[in-house]
Amino acid sequence: MNSALAVRDQFPAIPPGWHYLDSAATAQKPQSVIDAITRAYGHDYATVHRGVYERSAAMTASFEAARAATASLIGGEEHEVVFTRGATEAINLVAQRYRNGDRKRVLLSQLEHHSNIVPWQLAGYDIDVVPLTEDGRIDLDAAERMASDEHAIVAFAHVSNVLGSILDARRAAAIAHKVGARLLLDGCQAAPRLPVDVAAIGADFYAFSAHKIYGPTGIGALWARKDLLDAMPPWQGGGAMIDRVTFEKTTYLPAPSRFEAGTPHIAGAVGFHAAIDWTRDIGLDALHAHESALVTEARAALRTVPGVTLFGPEDSAGIVSFALDGVHPHDIGTILDDHGVAVRAGHHCAQPLMDYLGVPATARASFAAHSDASDIEALVKGLHAVKRIFG
Ligand code: PMP
Repeated sequence: MNSALAVRDQFPAIPPGWHYLDSAATAQKPQSVIDAITRAYGHDYATVHRGVYERSAAMTASFEAARAATASLIGGEEHEVVFTRGATEAINLVAQRYRNGDRKRVLLSQLEHHSNIVPWQLAGYDIDVVPLTEDGRIDLDAAERMASDEHAIVAFAHVSNVLGSILDARRAAAIAHKVGARLLLDGCQAAPRLPVDVAAIGADFYAFSAHKIYGPTGIGALWARKDLLDAMPPWQGGGAMIDRVTFEKTTYLPAPSRFEAGTPHIAGAVGFHAAIDWTRDIGLDALHAHESALVTEARAALRTVPGVTLFGPEDSAGIVSFALDGVHPHDIGTILDDHGVAVRAGHHCAQPLMDYLGVPATARASFAAHSDASDIEALVKGLHAVKRIFG
């Protein structure tokens, strides 16, 4: 077991004896991120992009430095990053404003999060659904057969929030591009767990949220290729996105500013930057190795509990979904909570995947930098308690 990260004491909201296994929902925050946000509000605070005074210029520099850090985390360029409220808003922005000629279909997969399904429906696209392989990966052979010149976008989760399966993103890009479609990756679960390089992948759009990568809620990013961003019309109107306004006509700033109407989440960006620095200090390779070792250990440990069914592939990225015969996942979650173990129980905003798996819900344990073998031991001990209660 690789528990070498030993960073738990940097997480003030994880008291001793509490086992937080819900990082895929939202990550706990290391002290450096909390400090950065506190400093932003308590010392450095001012508006951005408007002030003529020094404090505002410094805050603007911090805000833009956060954009550069966000871009560089995933191998992109600074001017290609739009700050959004999160991945959900990022995907909605693409669905509402990107147009690929008059193509009206999108190619999604069976395992997508609702935030990579509903925006396409709202934008009026028809959806084709790529099935999964037996072990819970997006079936790219099927995707290759299904992709056609009617598809505007191929939009897949880079890592599934339920199964933890990792997409072969380069192959997905090749499949999309062969038919003239664009590839959007929902990177919500990948950005905190894997080294990501949008240029090497050949992605066109990449969406993720700060709060899953040890940063604050309320901010996330859409990375998009510059030429695609430049071709997209503005979405929301207001301050900060305009060049010149008259009642007759308004002209807009270039991207990414054009997509950031209103006062942004200034302290959120600073916290996002701190979170990215913290994550990069550990190293995404080290994080991935750490979580992979925990997944291997957790899957083996869970198999020792009679009646457990595991979902997803063996090499899942930091996420293990499971069911226990005869016990509803909500009961699992409640009893585990009594034993100091926090897991997610539910449909994980992936109801079509639950339908496909033939279950109403699953229980899900997800790992992070602070996780270690004691979390897995507590989980398994808790599941034995669940079994005792349910006979
Ligand atoms: N996609 C995936 C795969 C996710 O796990 C989540 C968060 N559960 C989202 C999208 C949506 O992210 P947010 O709620 O931060 O916008």
